[in-house]
Amino acid sequence: MIDIKNLTKKFGNNTILKDINGQVKKGEVICIIGPSGAGKSTFLRCLNQLEKPTSGTVSVEGTELTGLNEKGVQKVREKMGMVFQNFNLFPNKTVLENVMLAPKKVKNVSDEEAKNNAQKLLDEVGMGAKAEAYPASLSGGQQQRVAIARALAMQPDVMLFDEPTSALDPEMVGEVLKVMQQLANDGMTMVVVTHEMGFAKNVADQIWFMADAGIQEKATPDEFFAHPQTERAKEFLQKIL
Ligand code: ATP
Ligand code: MG
Repeated sequence: MIDIKNLTKKFGNNTILKDINGQVKKGEVICIIGPSGAGKSTFLRCLNQLEKPTSGTVSVEGTELTGLNEKGVQKVREKMGMVFQNFNLFPNKTVLENVMLAPKKVKNVSDEEAKNNAQKLLDEVGMGAKAEAYPASLSGGQQQRVAIARALAMQPDVMLFDEPTSALDPEMVGEVLKVMQQLANDGMTMVVVTHEMGFAKNVADQIWFMADAGIQEKATPDEFFAHPQTERAKEFLQKIL
């Protein structure tokens, strides 16, 4: 589904990502873990071209994004839902309006259809009762579940998560991870940057360990956590486990 070839990203003279290769297959959950500054967010942003790679290619379902104009990129990006650390809901719109907005604006679906679909998605993430609330009145965990519903409203083929639980109080982490686990169980293709090792162990099909501008290891969670191959990964795991 996503094919990454020789992806390199530089900011000025700093090489943030160096010659990265990888494939994400349909229905797979990839968890990206690694130390701060490794380039995890930059990598995720290169997948949907929020950052332009300096060289190399990213292809989604055979379409090479790096060769597309802005309009073409926009089209592909619609199929890639993204959830950030800080929710980024529209503060002056209700929960329901937040979820309805993109399908109405981008896909021209009717008000009624957008509303029905939004309500259904909110029910799925356990936020149906808060449809008329404004984001500021919700907890962080609730806001993040709305953000997930909003991304799903565009019926994405793949969901990208950048540390979706890092900004949450500990007691709210579980409710968001549960929604993500459900999504994975339903067969969604997901690329998840996370520090939640329990989630990575239980849900990921593959762990990609990033450090020093590259993917240092790709392995199943069982392999990675029991037998990390590189010194860099061993050191990282010692620090966090
Ligand atoms: P964290 O775990 O802290 O979120 P990360 O692995 O996501 O870290 P990135 O945010 O991708 O790391 O950043 C990797 C490196 O790229 C950092 O050194 C950062 O300072 C640099 N960087 C990121 N974005 C930019 C930018 N727009 N301009 C210049 N440098 C940048
Ligand atoms: Mg980051």
